[in-house]
Amino acid sequence: MTFEKTRTITTDLLIIGGGAAGCMAAIMAKRREPKMSVTLLEKAHLSRSGCLAMGLNAVNAHLTEGTPQDYLDYVRRDNYGIVRDDLVLSIGERLNRMTALLEELGVPLPRDGQGNYIARSKRSIVMQGEHLKPLLARAVLAAGVHVENRTPAYRLLQTDDGRVCGAAGFNLRTGEMIVAHARAVLIATGGASGIYRPSNPGLARTKTWYCPYNAGSGLAMGLRAGAEMTSFEMRFVALRTKDVIAPTGTLVLGARMPQCNARGVRYVRQKEQMLGRSLTTCERLQFTIDEHRRGTGPCYVDVSGLSADEYRDLVESYLNMSPSIALDLMQDAGQPKTRIEICGSEPYVNGGHGMAGFWIDAQRRTTLPGLYVAGDVAGGAPKKYLTGCFAEAEMAVEHIIGSLNAEAGCASAETEAALREIRAPLNAAEGLAFQEVEARLQKIMEEYAGGSTQNYETSRDKLLLARRYLGVLDGHAAQAGAGDGHGLMRVHDTFDRILLARVLVEHLLARRETRWPCYQTRLDFPLRNDFEYGLFVNSTWRDGAVRVFGRNLDPPYGPVHLEGIL
Ligand SMILES: Cc1cc2nc3c(=O)[nH]c(=O)nc-3n(C[C@H](O)[C@H](O)[C@H](O)COP(=O)(O)OP(=O)(O)OC[C@H]3O[C@@H](n4cnc5c(N)ncnc54)[C@H](O)[C@@H]3O)c2cc1C
Repeated sequence: MTFEKTRTITTDLLIIGGGAAGCMAAIMAKRREPKMSVTLLEKAHLSRSGCLAMGLNAVNAHLTEGTPQDYLDYVRRDNYGIVRDDLVLSIGERLNRMTALLEELGVPLPRDGQGNYIARSKRSIVMQGEHLKPLLARAVLAAGVHVENRTPAYRLLQTDDGRVCGAAGFNLRTGEMIVAHARAVLIATGGASGIYRPSNPGLARTKTWYCPYNAGSGLAMGLRAGAEMTSFEMRFVALRTKDVIAPTGTLVLGARMPQCNARGVRYVRQKEQMLGRSLTTCERLQFTIDEHRRGTGPCYVDVSGLSADEYRDLVESYLNMSPSIALDLMQDAGQPKTRIEICGSEPYVNGGHGMAGFWIDAQRRTTLPGLYVAGDVAGGAPKKYLTGCFAEAEMAVEHIIGSLNAEAGCASAETEAALREIRAPLNAAEGLAFQEVEARLQKIMEEYAGGSTQNYETSRDKLLLARRYLGVLDGHAAQAGAGDGHGLMRVHDTFDRILLARVLVEHLLARRETRWPCYQTRLDFPLRNDFEYGLFVNSTWRDGAVRVFGRNLDPPYGPVHLEGIL
């Protein structure tokens, strides 16, 4: 494949990324404005891509009781006081309507004898979501959306006055460069995995919690175009079953089984009794790491209390989203497991569980005119999960439809420059292999920026080394080469991950306190400091450098100068 030919698409709305948020945005746009042309660029294949590829077994954000305000109060408390209240509340107000859309798509949501959804907690219900992604994909096609599968985008296109007017990428199957001109652009490419070394090595290295092919390219595209980002330092680390990386919520919330240390002590319950309240999501991880540190790890979920029927229900529930643990649990059907080992994943940059992503307004507009975002790529609103991604897609689409006044079209010089940059690694086929660059990136981040083997802890001096080594790596990475379309994609994914790592390190340096244990732990500033750091840490990327600054917690979120980062 030569990637010499270019195909140009002109559309009203361009959506980049066909996962939860991108698919729902496409469906909603066509349902509300059937005459509007909608084009969706998807890196993989719509029917099984992104976080939903394996399926899900719970709607993690559905209010079984309480109000949207209660949801905001919970998210703010769990997030140690820093969230965008306006964004979280706007999500809370739409959550349950989004659940109804899931049923409308044909996703089974089991109900009890009274006809109510089966609650796992005040904010979570059971879903049999193995088929969720194919059902979403089918609805997108039925709505009349133009879909380009196997087409990753890597550059945004802008008019002279800075409006985002399209994107450029390539089609892995046809070998064409793709240029899409649009009147509005919505990025929904999810968060980023692969910045830190995966906890599974060798051939199992793609067995990660977050989708291994979500490289954070939407975030990188935005940064290159000048968009403002928020809260990268609030990394997300998932507490999961060891090796197969299946969700522990299925055991702890779904089957109501306790966490215990290697000696059988129920350390979570103990801490909760001691503190007189339930633990935050960070604390569940932090206290698990503490057990290891104390020599009483590894930790487990104790499933010895399950009856044979309950054990079978557990396996079935995992079949909806994590079949590999189902195999593990059924290895010896006559001898059910009594304990399942758990551990922390590597850290991710993610705005769906955490709150790292684009800085946006209530309409999901970024700081770049013409550019909207939704889902895990959008910052400021953690714990939005699947239904929150849908809600953001709806809000973005509502605003796009109400304000579509620009003409589609981008300057040809800028388009040519973007295509040249994307093709460049093909001219260096004998250059560095992306694996070499990726391994170096992950080693730097693991050892100096708080990877899992460092108990997620870091400090100023380590971060300064990370900054220096990443700068050197960025220079060398320019020599990375690609021999085919797949290689080209992987090289660009690696470039994007390096850019995100550089921004992440500056955010970690800027927050001189420990706010979210394990997600963001500074050994040199071990305490929370509300007085100086009760603020958002935001950044932009300009002329090859990261500019970091604070923003107030309350509207209008005025900028705050951050002292002495170095
Ligand atoms: C393992 C796992 C389990 C989860 N379980 C639950 C659960 O049980 N309940 C719940 O409510 N939530 C759950 N979540 C959260 C929920 O799945 C995510 O919040 C949601 O899917 C994020 O949607 P998104 O559209 O932002 O990203 P995704 O759904 O990941 O979609 C991103 C899409 O963008 C595409 N893409 C990436 N880069 C490019 C590019 N450069 N060009 C074009 N396309 C690109 C990807 O291929 C993908 O299709 C889970 C998440 C994970 C990772």
